[in-house]
Amino acid sequence: MDRREFLAVTTASLGATTHGASLTDAAFPAPAIVEQQPAVVVIGAGAFGVWTALYLREQGHQVTLVDAYGPGSSRATSGDETRQLRVGYGDRELYARMAQRAMGAWQEREREFGVPLIVPTGRLELASDWSPSLRATQSMLTRLGVATEALTPEDLRRRYPQMSFDGVGVGLLEPGAAVVRAKNAIIAAGQAFVRKGGTLAVQRARPGRSTGRQLVDVELEGGTRIAGARFVFACGPWLPRLFPELLGDRIKVPGREVFYFGVPSGDTRFMPPAMPNYSESGYYGFPSIDGRGVKVCPTTGPVTFAPDTDERVVTAHEVRRARAYLAKRFPALAGQPITETRVCQLENTVDEHFIVDRHPAWDNVLIAGGGSGHAFKHGPVLGEYVGRRAVGASTDPAFDQMVRLAR
Ligand SMILES: Cc1cc2nc3c(=O)[nH]c(=O)nc-3n(C[C@H](O)[C@H](O)[C@H](O)COP(=O)(O)OP(=O)(O)OC[C@H]3O[C@@H](n4cnc5c(N)ncnc54)[C@H](O)[C@@H]3O)c2cc1C
Repeated sequence: MDRREFLAVTTASLGATTHGASLTDAAFPAPAIVEQQPAVVVIGAGAFGVWTALYLREQGHQVTLVDAYGPGSSRATSGDETRQLRVGYGDRELYARMAQRAMGAWQEREREFGVPLIVPTGRLELASDWSPSLRATQSMLTRLGVATEALTPEDLRRRYPQMSFDGVGVGLLEPGAAVVRAKNAIIAAGQAFVRKGGTLAVQRARPGRSTGRQLVDVELEGGTRIAGARFVFACGPWLPRLFPELLGDRIKVPGREVFYFGVPSGDTRFMPPAMPNYSESGYYGFPSIDGRGVKVCPTTGPVTFAPDTDERVVTAHEVRRARAYLAKRFPALAGQPITETRVCQLENTVDEHFIVDRHPAWDNVLIAGGGSGHAFKHGPVLGEYVGRRAVGASTDPAFDQMVRLAR
């Protein structure tokens, strides 16, 4: 089932549900509705929300997942074609450990969903020299039992002759790293959620009525309300708009332009496993996956981006810079055309830690986001973490501290 068929089916079933007592609550808090109200309402079906909803559903909760555009839309940060999966995280051990667990969880979910999601590529970090952060990555990976290889410029040239390594003094390879088909993964998780009895609503929601320190419901555009016992707002780059006073200064939303460059016909040097996923200061890139072309991503872009309304069209100056970079790192691709582009946005916190915490005004509302360019890989494990926080189950206190609002 592709995304269009999936949304058609789920929206149709939602139509039936929204007109039933479980989702409309004009008479709230009438007891009949309270009995049937979903235990948890998750708003946002990106990497944070869809996995949270799936985890909670699997734990037996009644869950409604609400997304303005549906899971895997091109406006969501999680709606891009590919994201990297790696354990290397500098000295940030809690994220490294979560990423390591997530690697296994991705494999299990891929088997369960029955769709090809993971492409083994390895990940190569390039640098001019051994920086403290590169050394920290290597020693952390070693401590966690994750294989690495330190490569000299000579090793790099021998192993990856399709790349040029001008200015590179060292490469750190994490051979077990991979790339995940991101959009497909979000859609597959959304489908699993619905298959397991979750309710999906393709609607925009905002906080509705509250009583004391409890949020009672969310209000959909058009006035329908969804009541719940617990709420998770996992709205990615929309969070600062939804809660401007709380998050306006805590989460910034810059834009990013992504380019796919064609590879010559019959040339397999730029496909996995011949070419790895890699990163360096200023750029990172992916091999040509599913014939899309080599993906080149600058780490610069517009300082603010409006995810609902801004045009997703690349700018002439970023095209020029990406071309110059391509010619430097992949001389054999210098004359190749751009085959696709994407314009995406980040939701960055100041210290790049996620935010997962209670809303200060409501005890039953959890905010989950601030992915800061690195949350996707954690999805299947992050969903468990956020889900447990949402329903008050125990979690790692050190992680709780790291991702609190007031830090
Ligand atoms: C260019 C780029 C490259 C990246 N590379 C990597 C990588 O290689 N590896 C990695 O791990 N991470 C990577 N990331 C980060 C990762 O993609 C994000 O951290 C993650 O996708 C964020 O997920 P999210 O759920 O917070 O937000 P989103 O995916 O944006 O999801 C939010 C959802 O909420 C919905 N929504 C918003 N407001 C409402 C509302 N009011 N009502 C209903 N629904 C609403 C939206 O429709 C959307 O679907 C990258 C990010 C970017 C931009």
